[in-house]
Amino acid sequence: MKLNVLGCAGTFPSADSPCSSYLLRHDGYTLMIDAGNGSLGALQKVVDLLDVDAVVLSHLHADHCVDLAAYSYARRFHPAKPGRLPVYGPKGTQDRLCQIFDTRPRDGLEEVYDFHTVTPGRIELGPFTLDLAQTNHPIECNAIRVSAGGRSLTYSADSAASDDLVALAQGSDLFLCEATWLDGTPVPPNVHMRASEAGEHATKADVGRLLLIHTISYQDDQQALDEASRTFAGPLGLAVAGASYAV
Ligand SMILES: [Zn+2]
Ligand SMILES: [Zn+2]
Repeated sequence: MKLNVLGCAGTFPSADSPCSSYLLRHDGYTLMIDAGNGSLGALQKVVDLLDVDAVVLSHLHADHCVDLAAYSYARRFHPAKPGRLPVYGPKGTQDRLCQIFDTRPRDGLEEVYDFHTVTPGRIELGPFTLDLAQTNHPIECNAIRVSAGGRSLTYSADSAASDDLVALAQGSDLFLCEATWLDGTPVPPNVHMRASEAGEHATKADVGRLLLIHTISYQDDQQALDEASRTFAGPLGLAVAGASYAV
């Protein structure tokens, strides 16, 4: 499968990256995971505006879902009149998107999106098998392992340290692991990981390659890499918005 990083900035966009959004393509099927602010623009650099077969949302924090509001206009008024797009998200996804419009009743979103509620477990979408596990985060959030063609990628979504995440990622060829914070700074518990913890998770899960995601632009990327490299000895890098990766 092929991965395009549409955005990987943590919490707010950076000068070079939208917030979280990842495109996975295999066998002619295009799956979008998360739709953070700015991702709709980046999407159009990779595929046609309408060339998305399904969207999966890890959770409903703004930096992971708000561009589905903008995307609803693109699909609703497009002259090609596309069919409803399957959207898989936690309980309350439709209401969360309606809040962005601040309209009641539900602004006809179900005419554009076909909403499905996900819980930890397995779903099949086109050629992809997705396994979801709840993360350690203040709201319901699922990490997602995607498998296709004998290869696998695990996306941590947002998570503080989590044994369930380690189990989900076990043996993945590629691990996109959040590394929001650096060592040595006080941080709230049970929200995000430090880069060193991302490395620890990658080591415990014995992944083939680790890419740090959800980093914060006012911190030093090189420091994040250095700290992760002390806890993970395998291939390591920072995810780059706009880059593509063969998994
Ligand atoms: Zn986030
Ligand atoms: Zn979050």
